[in-house]
Amino acid sequence: MSQDAIAPEDPLDAIVVGAGFAGIYMLHKLREMGLRARVLEAASGVGGTWYWNRYPGARCDVPSLQYSYQFSPELEQEWEWKERYAPQAEIMEYANHVVDRFGLRPHIQFDTRVAAAHFDDESGRWGLTTEAGQRLVADHCVMATGCLSAANDPPFPGRDAFQGDWYHTGRWPHEGVDFAGKRVGVIGTGSSAIQSIPLIAAQAEELFVFQRTPNYSIPAHNGPLDPGEQRAIKARYPEYRAFLREQLIAWDIEMNEKTAAEMSAEELRAECERRWKLGGLYFYGTTADMLMDQRANDIVASFVREKIAEVVDDPATAELLSPRSVLGCKRICADTGYFETYNREHVHLIDISGHPIDEITPDGIRVGDRVYEVDAIVSATGFDAMTGAVDRIDIRGSGGARLRDKWAAGPRTFLGLATAGFPNLFMISGPGSPSVLTNMMNSIEQHVDFVATSIGYLRERNLRRIEATLEAEDGWVDHVNEVAGSTLLLGCNSWYLGANVPGKPRVFMPYLGFPAYVEKCEDVASKGYEGFQLS
Ligand code: FAD
Ligand code: NAP
Repeated sequence: MSQDAIAPEDPLDAIVVGAGFAGIYMLHKLREMGLRARVLEAASGVGGTWYWNRYPGARCDVPSLQYSYQFSPELEQEWEWKERYAPQAEIMEYANHVVDRFGLRPHIQFDTRVAAAHFDDESGRWGLTTEAGQRLVADHCVMATGCLSAANDPPFPGRDAFQGDWYHTGRWPHEGVDFAGKRVGVIGTGSSAIQSIPLIAAQAEELFVFQRTPNYSIPAHNGPLDPGEQRAIKARYPEYRAFLREQLIAWDIEMNEKTAAEMSAEELRAECERRWKLGGLYFYGTTADMLMDQRANDIVASFVREKIAEVVDDPATAELLSPRSVLGCKRICADTGYFETYNREHVHLIDISGHPIDEITPDGIRVGDRVYEVDAIVSATGFDAMTGAVDRIDIRGSGGARLRDKWAAGPRTFLGLATAGFPNLFMISGPGSPSVLTNMMNSIEQHVDFVATSIGYLRERNLRRIEATLEAEDGWVDHVNEVAGSTLLLGCNSWYLGANVPGKPRVFMPYLGFPAYVEKCEDVASKGYEGFQLS
């Protein structure tokens, strides 16, 4: 692929930023439409999340047969998943297979980080500049930059003086890390920490886990995928996918239709036990009203706390590991032997809920008077979610308006797809879309299809510009907030609210309700892109 600038007189039809599952499918769609498109990707390979997050134990929490593309029935049939929940390596293999199967690799430019994207009112085109200074021009720009791709790496004082090794789970070395014989500190107890801690503990000589807030985690019960189950699903894939699209979070969690109040205490207890055995995120479906009704939530949450107390030998440690917040207002975690790990003598839970990490010293982590001496630190501190990756690009729309300024008090979009004042710019799974509250493969495909159809619609009619109206955007932002406000999702300091990043405005970013969202998108398209201005 030539690194030369594309002359303004020879622009591309579209530039896609990012080669995760969103960028890969977007490129495929655009090429299928006969358009000249290029993907720019900061990494040296495809896969996005699964390229970067190679920490021990990284795997999907959506069953493999659901976390996969549905756009190609042939691909759907020929790919054989090996485990119930695919590990990172298997998902990477799948991403690479898709890219080569559809001949996409020559159109992806790797090791290319986009630094700026500016809209030129005169030509009606986007000019992109990479960190290396390459300039490209295109009619349309699609940000497929990921909801969880901008690492949140808190600037702990003294960090640069640390003499050991420093890792972030979302930037894990490709060659892997050997912790044998090492004293290790893990900061954070979110999904990434919960997946990696048991495996780090199995290697390390001593492990200190620094916990600010405990998390709800349910055993995943991963294992080899039953070939019979795989055959059965594949035999009815179209029907199964249609069923998934009808689900609130676009995946099959066997949602209970009964509310807590509609069940007797015994029935509810039995359902909790059944869900514990089903494992992982099936727990979201324990009662129909678990995310809406505090009482229902309390009952299910206290069941999880009981399980933690059963598993963890030391009562004080069990108590510290027991979350008190709303179950599900942070994404529920799925683990393999997480709570059991705290029964190992060389694993220590350090409570930093009342007193944060003061500093990183050359040989460890200081909390108050005590320095925990370690050879390696794993920052499992998550991501500047949903807005981080786009915010890190200098995006300027019509009249030179900066997206960062427009979003200073929180992101504002129409459908999470577009934002007023930024014509011909689309986002895949942007803030205001169901995205992270769904099986993201479903959301990604739905978004890409919408964007591709919109671009096709414009071209068929010789139109050159599409832009969300302020009115439609304001209405959508209000609706997203209203839906979130009717749930318990605002009940803790989650990354859904941006609360994990100091100084980030507290705004609930994703939209709950995949089927309602799809219906809205279809309605918008059927009315000639109502809510967008076309010219
Ligand atoms: P990403 O995969 O994040 O890809 C975005 C790409 O854009 C990256 O490759 C990045 O390098 C590139 N990029 C960003 N900025 C720039 C720039 N300025 N210039 C050039 N390139 C850029 N979702 C689920 O549904 N189920 C799961 O079980 C699940 N597990 C997850 C586990 C982890 C550890 C994480 C972090 C996320 C998980 N997710 C899960 C969410 C996951 O992010 C999505 O499922 C999906 O992979 C997102 O694909 P994407 O293409 O939208 O974004
Ligand atoms: P996360 O859920 O945001 O967890 C980050 C952890 O770091 C939290 O425990 C947080 O504490 C802590 N932390 C952050 N800043 C800190 C600071 N300054 N000092 C001390 N502790 C700090 O991030 P994640 O675990 O990477 O997961 C992010 C999302 O990615 C998940 O919610 C999920 O959607 C996805 N994911 C999925 C899987 C999977 O199972 N498939 C695996 C990994 C990730 P607080 O809670 O107090 O903020």
